[in-house]
Amino acid sequence: MSLVFPAPAVTTLPVAGGGEFPVHRIYCVGRNYAEHAQEMGHTGREPPFFFMKPADAVLAVAEGETGRIDYPALTSSLHHEIELVVAIGVGGSRIAAADAASHIWGYAVGLDMTRRDLQNEMKKQGRPWEIGKAFEQSAPIGPIVPKSRCGELLRGAITLGVDGAPRQKGDLADLIWSVNETIEQLSAAWLLQPGDLIFTGTPAGVGAVTRGQVMEGAIAGLGTLRVAVE
Ligand code: MN
Repeated sequence: MSLVFPAPAVTTLPVAGGGEFPVHRIYCVGRNYAEHAQEMGHTGREPPFFFMKPADAVLAVAEGETGRIDYPALTSSLHHEIELVVAIGVGGSRIAAADAASHIWGYAVGLDMTRRDLQNEMKKQGRPWEIGKAFEQSAPIGPIVPKSRCGELLRGAITLGVDGAPRQKGDLADLIWSVNETIEQLSAAWLLQPGDLIFTGTPAGVGAVTRGQVMEGAIAGLGTLRVAVE
């Protein structure tokens, strides 16, 4: 085979303890904590819905490092959304929630960075969200922690601060749709594959960051993700 230009590099994330996790697709769940759904103007347990980011939107942040993102174009409302990221190791379709945990390879702390003003404009017009969600560096993610190391994550604090001031706070136990239910729903619609990542939704307290600010997100059992906006 003769490529007409060099193939793009495979996106990878460092694995805590060694190795690299190759990223396939990035699925994201919308409005999956009750208080965040309320702050976005919704109530109740509506069926989950999904959007995607391209794999090359990942900014891999190694353990102990501070990731750096450039303030993106076209927005004046860049929002942070701290999220549990689930890394799929075994693919499949129509996976039952009861079997879902066996498809999970590991977990990471991730940020679903959002151009909120553009997303809101698209919502208002009933148009796709990509311009608000799927831009370069919109998915900063820390190292993948193997499930064999941290166990199945069903509860634990998920927090985000900006320049040391608390912004977001929740508990993984408060997900409207659990990780296992999410895998069931996702795999009913798509063929999950090894290397897929799932952003599982963000707790209440989303807000804007500006150039020069530093976000610090944490999930119990996974450690801390630090990202500076430049
Ligand atoms: Mn999100």
